[in-house]
Amino acid sequence: MTVPNKVAWAWGGPRQLLIDGAWVSAVEHGDFEVIDPGTEQVITRVAEAAATDVDDAVRAARRTFDDERWIRLSGAERGMILWRTADLMAERANELAAVESRDVGMPVSQALLMVTEAANQFRYYAGWADKIHGSTTDIGPSDRRMHGATYKEPVGVVAMIVPWNAPLIAMSMKLAPALAAGCTCVLKPSEEAPLSALVLGGILLDAGVPPGVVNVVTGFAATGAALAEHRDVDKISFTGSTAVGRKIVVAATGNLKKVSLELGGKSPVIVAPDADIAAAAAGIALGAFWNSGQICTSGTRLLVHRSIYSELTDVIAELAADMKVGYGNDPDTVLGPLVSRRHLDRVAGFVDRSAADGARVVTGGKRIGDRGFYYEPTLVADATPSMEIVRDEVFGPVLAAMPYTDLETAIAVANDTQYGLAGSVWTRDVALAHRVARRLRAGRIGINVHRAGGVQMPIGGYKQSGWGRENGPNAIEEYLETKSVVTLLDR
Ligand code: NAD
Repeated sequence: MTVPNKVAWAWGGPRQLLIDGAWVSAVEHGDFEVIDPGTEQVITRVAEAAATDVDDAVRAARRTFDDERWIRLSGAERGMILWRTADLMAERANELAAVESRDVGMPVSQALLMVTEAANQFRYYAGWADKIHGSTTDIGPSDRRMHGATYKEPVGVVAMIVPWNAPLIAMSMKLAPALAAGCTCVLKPSEEAPLSALVLGGILLDAGVPPGVVNVVTGFAATGAALAEHRDVDKISFTGSTAVGRKIVVAATGNLKKVSLELGGKSPVIVAPDADIAAAAAGIALGAFWNSGQICTSGTRLLVHRSIYSELTDVIAELAADMKVGYGNDPDTVLGPLVSRRHLDRVAGFVDRSAADGARVVTGGKRIGDRGFYYEPTLVADATPSMEIVRDEVFGPVLAAMPYTDLETAIAVANDTQYGLAGSVWTRDVALAHRVARRLRAGRIGINVHRAGGVQMPIGGYKQSGWGRENGPNAIEEYLETKSVVTLLDR
């Protein structure tokens, strides 16, 4: 693995906060370092928003919502601006991918896919912007007839807090439907990867989103907490860990703001004895290790029928050992580094403890090199349902495998978790696949595929993986209130 000594790439993008259409310094002039996880070099410094800055951003979003400069545009006009946003993202795809790759560590080729996926969010919800409407109905007894109408109205000022693992997608999944619905927004990206939010903020302005409709504040947990507590925020849309999700719910109680949560996962993968082993191994490896396992829906608990357990785990181990780990900008790289030293230590700790607990590290299990936060794709076999490696979200390239004998037990183990985000089932028997899919308590199930989905398909969590859904028509509803207006027709 070659880690560059010095990367010939200087950050020329914004470093300030985007408030009311202008780039402004943080009032207390704080800023913080943004680190390239592949080299440990400082890419740049960006502003750290204090509570006063958050207050300025929320005020701008509130004023803009109240003066109706966004919602007064027709749905078609809003839709055209969202479509233009997607066009500009496509025009600047190489730049956006380079930023995301450098900030998060992911390979550029993967970052390019993510730019396309993020742009697709704006295209999809551009189409929704002029199709948001209520319905009418006749109500009341025959001698006192009334006309009932419902209106769909934007929920108001939305605070959006996102994590670092795929920031451009996470924020586009919120911004596109919220803007289509007519909301105004304050976006807080993660301190670990704030740069693409700043670039996207500029793109939204260039596309014609009026000043104040989208505001971007960079900072740490305290910045997010100030936003979550703010009394002038009507709704908070959060993506991140289940632990912070709980804090968001508590912070929201002050003004009882609406909350939607996309939280952690520990997704099960069930392989039946008749599965196509080569195809299953490839799909399961992708589902576990893609983005170095730093994906909320990663399939990280593998339950394999005992009759094919050795064969399947051997093939997955071979695939994992062949995955080239390296710097994001290297065209041969399949897996980039983990996002930070803290996260690397956390992931390594899980694997080390699993071995101490009696599981078997078949492949991987070690840091690579001593510069950059690289970790080997890891298969831990012979885990048991009570082990920490099976119960807790590792959020790294670590797959824990367990054999099963009867399917009922496998389903029970799969559901024995606080999480309920995703899962997959691998079999040639379509009826069995659907039966298992229906039994799994999770928001998205793949059949003979794990990394599945698309903007049309709702995603969200059962149990402690979240509240609400993103993607598809469901996401629009997350940003709308429904109003009933009733007219008395008979006097
Ligand atoms: P995190 O919860 O630590 O942080 C997420 C965001 O919340 C960051 O912007 C952070 O600054 C902010 N934050 C931290 N403390 C806060 C507080 N008290 N109040 C307000 N904001 C606060 O998560 P992370 O480490 O950035 O991301 C990884 C987690 O995100 C994993 O658990 C992963 O499963 C989850 N995730 C979920 C989805 C999904 O769609 N369900 C998608 C991606 C990531």
